[in-house]
Amino acid sequence: MTHLIKQAEFISAPQSIGQTVPCFARALDLKGDIARATLHISALGLYEAAIDGQRVGKFLFAPGWTEYASRLQFQTYDVTDLLKPDSLLTVMVGEGWWGGRMGWDGQKERRRTALIAALEVEFTDGRTQTVLTDARWQVLTTPILGSSIYDGETVDMTAETESLGYAEVVDYDKSILLPQEGEEVREMATLGVIAEITTPAGERVLDFGQNLTGYVRVHAHGARGDEIELSFAEVLDKDGNFYTENMRSAKNKIRYILADSEPMDFAPTFCWQGFRYVRLDKCPAGMTADDFTAVAVHSDIERTGDFDCGVPLVNQLYQNILWGQRGNFLDVPTDCPQRDERLGWTGDAQVFIRTACFLRDTRAFYSKWLDDMACDQMEDGGIPHVIPDVLKNGDSACGWADAATICPWTLYLCYGDKRELKKNYPMMKKWVEHVRSVATKGVYWDTGFHFGDWLALDAKEGSYYGATPNDLTSTAYYAYSTLIMSKAAEVLGYSAESANYMRLHNDIVEFFKREFFTQNGRLAVPTQTAHVLALMFDLVPESAVQRTIDELVRLIRANDNHLTTGFLGTPYLCYALSRHGRIDVAIELLLREEFPSWLYSVKQGATTIWEHWDGIKPDGSFWSEAMNSFNHYAYGCILDWMVETLAGISADERVAGYKRFTVAPQLPNEWDSLNCRYESLYGEIAVSIARAGDELSVKLTVPENTTCQFRLGDTRKELGSGTYEFTCPNVPVPVEAK
Ligand code: BGC
Repeated sequence: MTHLIKQAEFISAPQSIGQTVPCFARALDLKGDIARATLHISALGLYEAAIDGQRVGKFLFAPGWTEYASRLQFQTYDVTDLLKPDSLLTVMVGEGWWGGRMGWDGQKERRRTALIAALEVEFTDGRTQTVLTDARWQVLTTPILGSSIYDGETVDMTAETESLGYAEVVDYDKSILLPQEGEEVREMATLGVIAEITTPAGERVLDFGQNLTGYVRVHAHGARGDEIELSFAEVLDKDGNFYTENMRSAKNKIRYILADSEPMDFAPTFCWQGFRYVRLDKCPAGMTADDFTAVAVHSDIERTGDFDCGVPLVNQLYQNILWGQRGNFLDVPTDCPQRDERLGWTGDAQVFIRTACFLRDTRAFYSKWLDDMACDQMEDGGIPHVIPDVLKNGDSACGWADAATICPWTLYLCYGDKRELKKNYPMMKKWVEHVRSVATKGVYWDTGFHFGDWLALDAKEGSYYGATPNDLTSTAYYAYSTLIMSKAAEVLGYSAESANYMRLHNDIVEFFKREFFTQNGRLAVPTQTAHVLALMFDLVPESAVQRTIDELVRLIRANDNHLTTGFLGTPYLCYALSRHGRIDVAIELLLREEFPSWLYSVKQGATTIWEHWDGIKPDGSFWSEAMNSFNHYAYGCILDWMVETLAGISADERVAGYKRFTVAPQLPNEWDSLNCRYESLYGEIAVSIARAGDELSVKLTVPENTTCQFRLGDTRKELGSGTYEFTCPNVPVPVEAK
């Protein structure tokens, strides 16, 4: 049966109005006592519905962002408590992702918005009545004079509401409508001002103490016509002045014009900003810092993981990673929340997904996004850089497009859901087959455009492209994706395909060894990332493994004991070291405090993860305004390694979803304790380790219906569900003699 909402019409405001946020209104005249009322609603654009002025639901930026060409979510709200027979149903519709510009170059053009809704009423006597959007709905002006995701919102409360006549029915394919899939975006936390600053430039700036994604709620009071104007920044510059250059073309301006002296609370309806600081460009005299509250908004996804090691800088890094996820889980996994992007960059998502799955139960969130990815997959199997694809440039890049294999496989490891894997399998396969078709002799991926080891520090001065050549990174990722294919096929019982992909994988690996290793076992590309990927993806001739790991360590030492890796090398840097006997070096890198390192930004006062290792350089200057986000979760992927290697909790891929898992902790010599918990689908897995003289005391929780292999030095235990407390000899991390 087709859903009721499909009987409604898409309606738009008359084209001539020139107002970006119209309000659609329908005065109801229901005959009977209401027993139950349900509103099904969606928009091409963003909507906010109200009944007699009361907001319907808590979902911000509904109906969410999907690949609108083929998928448009609708939401269903129980409005029984709000609805009266003579209620006025009003819906404001903003441009949002559908109608507004998206992309730094205006890649996605603006287009006309539309609303669709069906109100379903059941009366106490059993009768029913439906009210559908159609040409009988009125269109009114709203006080929101303009609203854009990138540019902000202007609300003029002095503007009189005017009728614009009746709505126009527009013809749009209704088969794209589908029920809500992911979690709702909601207001998730509020923060007060921690300091009011007058900058050297004389500007009045409020500091909320946390870089976040959301908006400011203003408790406005003043006289009619008074204006409040806000600008947003993530950081102050080295002189302490308000810095907005890194927002690029995104104006991020919020303006309110007051209608009368009664206090009124304002918050944007159809946009958000990424900020820690707010500049009061205009503000009525009597208003104080207490009138401003920052509201963090993100997809309301259940928290599942926690990590604590008692070391303030590392714990702050962990907090920054958490905030990185909060800031970039806004219905789709985004690169950043503030500049003229905020796009579902596949590379960033792929890099961070494992950490994301530890922190929150991301099943629905990623499942929805992967459905969009499948829709956006190109005819030839290519996967666009961003999903939903607003860039439409036709390229597929290694390590970005490989999100098509890595993300579904990671979800399978974490949640063990074969149906989800099966759903994504055709897309995964089409992607790998695409690479096979463009790879030289089917094994050497040396064609096409690539971001490569994006933002690596071994890039040429001013360039974004790291020094590791594309043919190496691409062929390495191709090998990895085919291995995933083989494993996924095996899980799904496609044994012939599994064997095929294993053969292809082996051929790629053999080719890689021949192409990139000398006969004596030297990896011919002397970059950290080349060594990391070769080790991590098992691309090293057996006889050369030691030489390769030694060389990786040498490259780190030669760089004054620092990393140089970018987007592709960083996620695996510490893994490559710890899995090949050099956990000591991995821990050193994690605990480095000076530039470049994870803790460098923490020491600089960061409250989120930066896009660049050198977003703010040691001398206080910025990397550049062209590409310098301070809320980019990608490098937060280190948490994944901290959980798997230091807390030592890892899922067994043969019995996925933590049905069987390992706990093999390794407490860094510098730390006295470590606590980590993860709420798996079976229940809580918890590990606490504390130093007690020469021993370690261990507390371990193993959930029902799971088994845990515990390993620490010579201590080995196979444990069923329960809580255990024991001690074992401390096994210090061996440290290289200097
Ligand atoms: C984004 C990234 C993204 C990259 C592609 C940037 O503009 O913010 O994080 O992955 O472009 O290389």
